[in-house]
Amino acid sequence: MKKIITLLCLTIFGVAIQAAPSTPDAAPLYLNWIDHTIAPDNDFFHYANGTWIKNNPIPLDRASWSAFDILQDQNDRVVKSILETAAAKKNVKDSIDQKIGDFYASGMDEKTINQLGASPLKEELSKIAAIKNSTDLQNSIAHLQMIGVDAAFGFGQIQDLKNSQRVIAELAQGGVGLPDQDYYLKDDPQMKQVRAAYRQYMQHVFVLLGDSTEVARQETDSVMTIETALSKASMRPAEMRDPHAIYHMMTLKQLKDVTPHFNWPLFFKNMGRADIVEANLATPGFFTYFDTALQTVSLEDWKIYLRWRLVSAFVPYLSDSFVNERLHFSQKLSGIKTLLPRWHRVLDTEEGALGFAIGKRYVEKMFPSSSKVKVEVMINEIRAALRNDLKTLSWMTPATRVAAIKKLDAMRQRVGYPTKWRDYSALHINRDHYLQNVMNSNIYLTQYELNKIGKPVDHDEWTMLPQEVNAYYDPSENTINMPAGILQSPFFDIHAPAAINDGAVGVVIGHEMTHGFDDEGAQFDGGGNLKDWWTAADLKKFKKATLCISNQFSQYTIEDGTHVQGPLVTGEAVADLGGVTLAHRALLASNDKGKTIADVTFEQQFFLGFAHVWASHMRPEMMRLLVTTNPHPPAQFRVNGTLANVPAFQAAYHLPKDSPMANKDPCVIW
Ligand SMILES: [Zn+2]
Repeated sequence: MKKIITLLCLTIFGVAIQAAPSTPDAAPLYLNWIDHTIAPDNDFFHYANGTWIKNNPIPLDRASWSAFDILQDQNDRVVKSILETAAAKKNVKDSIDQKIGDFYASGMDEKTINQLGASPLKEELSKIAAIKNSTDLQNSIAHLQMIGVDAAFGFGQIQDLKNSQRVIAELAQGGVGLPDQDYYLKDDPQMKQVRAAYRQYMQHVFVLLGDSTEVARQETDSVMTIETALSKASMRPAEMRDPHAIYHMMTLKQLKDVTPHFNWPLFFKNMGRADIVEANLATPGFFTYFDTALQTVSLEDWKIYLRWRLVSAFVPYLSDSFVNERLHFSQKLSGIKTLLPRWHRVLDTEEGALGFAIGKRYVEKMFPSSSKVKVEVMINEIRAALRNDLKTLSWMTPATRVAAIKKLDAMRQRVGYPTKWRDYSALHINRDHYLQNVMNSNIYLTQYELNKIGKPVDHDEWTMLPQEVNAYYDPSENTINMPAGILQSPFFDIHAPAAINDGAVGVVIGHEMTHGFDDEGAQFDGGGNLKDWWTAADLKKFKKATLCISNQFSQYTIEDGTHVQGPLVTGEAVADLGGVTLAHRALLASNDKGKTIADVTFEQQFFLGFAHVWASHMRPEMMRLLVTTNPHPPAQFRVNGTLANVPAFQAAYHLPKDSPMANKDPCVIW
């Protein structure tokens, strides 16, 4: 449950990614992505990427398609060959190759998986059927969480927000199948359609498990009633951005006061951590409701609910009849049309289970040390630009300025991959039982996370895989992290002109660095602790500046008229503006700015490089999901909304004063 801040939306809800035949052309400027029928002063995003969008339709098995996806797809194909090579070696004992090869082979064994139907879940289903009383129910919730099922609520570890040196237990809301309460409650056509599809999915799965249609319908009603109530009691994504709102350290006694009908010592014992005597109750309102539900929901309904939570967690690893039911639901939720090919689904699952083992092989094969050196230099240049800015910022008082510089100087930068690799020796993987492998991996991961509680923080650990096309800032660690997977064209090209690299990966670096000083990150000090280190006057000015961003983004709407949630996307939009501003300053300060290429000045190259990073489009269903739940604004607003606040952009493209790409009162943060 570690809270990190990423560069782009994570894969949500099994909406994964797959190949397209087209790849970007070799020239680092990508002039053939431009749509010359669109004026840059009207809509820079579609000017820069319009032809790319036309030439790169969204594949049927995807909910969106982007420059990120194409690069991730290339990385996935490298991983595929690593897995195939490992799988071809049989009877390898106790090595990483045995685990990654056998996992892959078990997942690719479609024939066995289809023959088995739902039988791999038989034992777990009979355990739920045997629940006789409240204690059994509570034991079952713990057991299901241990094997990776999101049952009733979430339990994990987190670095103490107020003391970043220690790892504590955390309890949080969870236990539902739809992405947000809007999907359970809102009465608009799209939400109603997704809700109906979810009900149908559930009902059909109950029938596949052997229930009659009528019984399955009643069971669906029971599950929907419980999930709707849990979702209603949950905090909204925008509310959870306030770190103080999700921090409530409690002793066992205090936990008992909130939930008198739940036995926490028993739960912690079941999870293998009987020694836990305090935990952060992230969302108390949710647990207050949970306690009520323990009294008001019948034991039979709880059993039906747990049965659904169990099966839905493992549907992707069962036979085709189950997988296809899930597809019908995903079609309505994210807009995908078809399934990813099996190899890709297995690969995605295996990345979740053994991602760092695979990552080690990936890095050995793919990541040259020259890239690491060059990116380290770029980070230092952008850090210098921010340092300079903090030194001269007119609105900041001296005390806050000193603390801000201290925080920046303490920020650690990590490029490529972890310095030490995760130990998977406790994880048992066999060649012939896919679902068991997934379950074993879930148990391994649950225990791996829970083992951290009470131990010193491992400052060398990464929370993102080296093969991922993404980047992140970790507020509790005060680190920026740039995985090897993103350090390739079009984000980074060691042979490209400086202006293009600065506009692409330079902005990404600046974005992650700014997260240390966005609406959320600014509440943590240089040591990663949630602490007031601003003077009240500075904080007021800073909040006013971020409110400008929030108000600007709230005005944007997507195709179906739904508004972007300004308060939800503020942190990411602030980081985008910071990223562009800082990387542009670093470019101006460098001795190697590059030169005009094909009539495109070096500054125009910079802004074009930035816009190209966000070349993408999305199905309307996925767009709705994104603006409802995700802190990242849609790509076109990440480009146009950001650049509208950047006078240097308007100058580089000689935009008229009344251009929609120029805010009359630009938001200024850094
Ligand atoms: Zn971000």
